[in-house]
Amino acid sequence: MTIFDISKENRTACPISACDVKQYQLSGGMLRVCDAELPEVDELSLVRHYTGLSKKAYGVDDGFYPLGSCTMKYNPKINETVAALDGFTKIHPLQKADGALQVMALLEDRLCAITGMDAFTLQPAAGAHGEFTALLTIRAYHLDRKDAKRNKVIVPDSAHGTNPASAAMAGFEIINIPSSSDGCVDVAALETAVGEDTAAFMLTNPNTLGIFDKNIKKIAEIVHKAGGLLYYDGANLNPIMGVIRPGDMGFDVVHLNLHKTFSTPHGGGGPGSGPVGCKAFLTEFLPSPVVKNRNGEARLASAPKSIGRMKSFYGNFLVMVRALAYIETLGREGIPLSAKIAVLNANYMMAKLKEYFPIHSSDTCMHEFVLSCEKLKEETGVSALDFAKAIIDTGMHPPTMYFPLIVHEALMFEPTETESKETIDRAVDIIVSLYKQAYENAAEFHLKPQKMPIGRPDEVKAARNPIITA
Ligand SMILES: *Cc1c(COP(=O)(O)O)cnc(C)c1O
Repeated sequence: MTIFDISKENRTACPISACDVKQYQLSGGMLRVCDAELPEVDELSLVRHYTGLSKKAYGVDDGFYPLGSCTMKYNPKINETVAALDGFTKIHPLQKADGALQVMALLEDRLCAITGMDAFTLQPAAGAHGEFTALLTIRAYHLDRKDAKRNKVIVPDSAHGTNPASAAMAGFEIINIPSSSDGCVDVAALETAVGEDTAAFMLTNPNTLGIFDKNIKKIAEIVHKAGGLLYYDGANLNPIMGVIRPGDMGFDVVHLNLHKTFSTPHGGGGPGSGPVGCKAFLTEFLPSPVVKNRNGEARLASAPKSIGRMKSFYGNFLVMVRALAYIETLGREGIPLSAKIAVLNANYMMAKLKEYFPIHSSDTCMHEFVLSCEKLKEETGVSALDFAKAIIDTGMHPPTMYFPLIVHEALMFEPTETESKETIDRAVDIIVSLYKQAYENAAEFHLKPQKMPIGRPDEVKAARNPIITA
C-alpha cells in the first residue's frame, strides 16, 4: 500500500498558512498544466502509514545483523545528537563556517593517525566512489611522471567486486590474480603479473576471507619495485583500527568507509562517505578543494595538480560529524579495544560453528569468517541461499551469501564488536538448529521464508526491473 492509496480529497495533516510573500509570476512555459498529484492524508493516517513501513524494515537497532563485509555495528545515538546540532544542520555550504571546516580538518587528522597516511580527502560519497577517486589520483600521478604506459590494475580474485569495477571506470585494464590455498595473495602469481604497465595493486588486508596476509611487506616490495602503487581497500578497517596501520604495511593510498568502520548508519542507500588518504607524494593530486589546517585555522585550498572535484561542495558533511563524534568518544584506548573485540567476537562465533560447517580460514580469523554450505548442499540439497532465506524467518538478519566468490556456497559472518556474548550464543543456537532441520526436512527450506511479506523474488528481475510503487 502506498501513501497514494490512502489519499482522500481535501484531507490534510497540517494547516499551511497563507503565503505572505508576493507571488512571482513565472513565464508561461514554466507553469504547470495541471495540479501536482500529491497525496492528501490526515495526520494519524500519515503517522500509521510510515510507522507501518518502518516496522517492515530491519536494521541494526532491531536485532543481530551479521552481514559479512558490511560491518553492521551499532551506531551510538550520541553521534546522532551531535550531528543534529543546529550549528551543523543549519549552515549553508557557501557560508563561511569555521566550525565545520575545523570538524573536517580534525577528522582528516584523526584518519591520518589511524591509517598512517599524510593527507585525506573527505569528498567521496561511498566506498566505490573513494576507490574511483583514488584510482584517478593514481593515474594522475603516473601521467605527471610521464609514465603513460601504466594502464593495468591488478586485483586478487578475493577482491570486493567494486575494486575491478572502479578500476575499469577509471580507464584501467584489470588483471585478476588467483589466491593461494590459504586465501592470501599468491606471491608468485603477483610477481608474474607486475611489470612496466602496472599502475596499482588493489588489496584488502585482512582479505575478504577475514585472513590477515602476513606477506604484506613482501607484496609491497614487489609492487613498488615494479613502479606500481599499493592501494588499500579499507572499507572494513574494523579489525585493525588503532592496532596496525596500512601506511606502515607499505600502502600508498587507502579508502575508508565511514559508514562501516566509523559507525555511521548505512544500508538502504542513505548518505555514505568514502574518504581517500594518501602518502605525501600523492597529496598534490587529491580532489579540490582540500581542507588545510594552518596555525589552528582551517581553510579550503586547491591542490596544485588536483584531479578536480569529485562531489558537490565537500562531501556528506553530517556523516563526517558522526564519524568524528565516534572517534572522539572511543578515543586512543577505545579504538584498538573495539577492533580487538570485533576480532574476538568473530573467532568466538567461528569456533562454535566449526563443528558443523567447513570454515574457509586458518585457525583464527580477523573480524569475519566464511563458512561453506557445499557439504550441506551435497548431503541435503539445502544451499547457502536456502539456508540464508531460512534464517530470515527466525527474526535474525542473514549473513552475506556467495561472497567471496572463491568459496562455494559461501556464508560470510561478521558479528562486530557491539554484539554481546548472549546475542552471539543465540545466533549460533539458531544456525545449529537450522542445520539439524536441514537433515530432517530439507524440502521445507526451499519454500522459506514464509513469515515475510515477500518470499523469494526473482532477484535479477527485481534489480533490473524494480516495481517500487505497488
Ligand atoms: C563495502 C565495501 C566496498 C564498497 O563500499 P560502498 O560504500 O558500498 O561503495 C568496497 N570494498 C569492500 C571490501 C567493502 O566491504
